Amino acid sequence: MKLKRPALLLTAGLLLRLGITTLAWAGPPDNLRACWNQQAKPMQTQYVSFPYRETLAKLEHSFQPWQQTAYTGAGRVWTNATGFAKSDTLRKGAATYFSQTQFTGATLLFQDYGDKELSSVTTAAFQEYAVQAARYAPGLLIQHFYGRHIAPDPESTPALTVYKATVNRVLVRLFIRTADNQLSKVTSLHHDELFGDVTTTYSYRDYARLGKLVYPRTIVIESINGKLTDTVTIGAAAVAATAPVLLTAPAGYALAPETAAKPETTVEQFRPRLHLLNLKHTDDRVLVVEFDTFLLVAEAPLNSENGELIIGAARRIAPGKPIRYFVAGHYHPHYLGGVRPFVHKGATVLTTAADLPYVQYLAAAPHTLQPDSLQRQPRPLRTEEIVNRKTIAEGAFRMEIYVIGSQSQHTNDYLIYYFPTEKILFQDDLVWIAKQGEPRKASARQAGLYHAVLALGLDVQTIVQSWPVRDYGVKTIIPFSELQESMSVK
Ligand SMILES: [Zn+2]
Repeated sequence: MKLKRPALLLTAGLLLRLGITTLAWAGPPDNLRACWNQQAKPMQTQYVSFPYRETLAKLEHSFQPWQQTAYTGAGRVWTNATGFAKSDTLRKGAATYFSQTQFTGATLLFQDYGDKELSSVTTAAFQEYAVQAARYAPGLLIQHFYGRHIAPDPESTPALTVYKATVNRVLVRLFIRTADNQLSKVTSLHHDELFGDVTTTYSYRDYARLGKLVYPRTIVIESINGKLTDTVTIGAAAVAATAPVLLTAPAGYALAPETAAKPETTVEQFRPRLHLLNLKHTDDRVLVVEFDTFLLVAEAPLNSENGELIIGAARRIAPGKPIRYFVAGHYHPHYLGGVRPFVHKGATVLTTAADLPYVQYLAAAPHTLQPDSLQRQPRPLRTEEIVNRKTIAEGAFRMEIYVIGSQSQHTNDYLIYYFPTEKILFQDDLVWIAKQGEPRKASARQAGLYHAVLALGLDVQTIVQSWPVRDYGVKTIIPFSELQESMSVK
């Protein structure tokens, strides 16, 4: 490749002399050096410092799918071509959280919002930090591309020259305007265990000048394929000789290796037709209901790997019985995150009107970076909407699924499962009764479940909870009498 480029240029020059003006075949122009000259070169020996304000939208464990939690933030950044320091606060309502970051070519130190201690930082987070910093300043990324002599990509257009490189696990594209050699936008593509291929777009606007440095004053960040939009507004920048030492590494500090928890599953036959699958690595309990001729699986945490793991375990529990139904008690990732392999197996996903578009999004989301079974072999999504209740019965055995929705005081889609012959109620995460100590007053969720059970007239003896299983010191096989008791505690 290195030999080819001068040869191409020579040919282009020859064509020019011959009066042929179309040079499209010679490839896009190379604007990276001119961009680096104005956006990174002036920061080789000095820092630039600026205040900023930001809006930050997050998907949390909210009431309904895609519901955003809105934060506002403010802080100050010190950055040069290879280093970045940030001191800032985030606000949500009346709560304020403080955080600090110190990135150098050698390490990344991070004190998370609301924490006093340094967080553990992985090698991958360190290697990919230039992408994170692009939210406030794109200089580190421009330096990264320039230092590696990245060539223009064939995706370039007359208006924008595109540069593409993989920064550790993230595929990053820089879009440089050919008109003024300013960075117009950056896109990063990475794998998300829930959403699959996820693109974040950073758009740079309102460029200003500080000496020879050109820097953007407005950065718009669209994350999760455009579902969330944040804005960072940069204040007046000033030259700084150095960056302050915001954080120092304690003795023996090192970046942590990327370690995924080793999958560990145990099976427990809880009642003749009710099998509990304990996923130790996610602290979840999955329910496999065995009917005469088929299975129903309830809950699959976090990702497709867990979905596959559960399908394998279900096959060992009842060889030959197909998984006819998959159901998740609500849309949070610990229950619905592993849905895709069930779609691949042809199971009918039982869901509510509130969640149907979300289930469709998860089933259709491309997973090209880390293909799962559904990506490798697409299958149509089969769903059945539960309006108020659904009964699944074979012979004398019966399972009743009830929509309690917002009565749960947790989400608007909430389902609970009742087994009349066993007097057992299975639900996800509503009951929090401590293993030890005096009974405490029922939480809003707990009271919500209690009132729902009463309103439905269900004769419940035992409640089985899906999450948490070991963590938080709470009971997860709960006599109904204890839920009742918690209702009378003042
Ligand atoms: Zn939840």
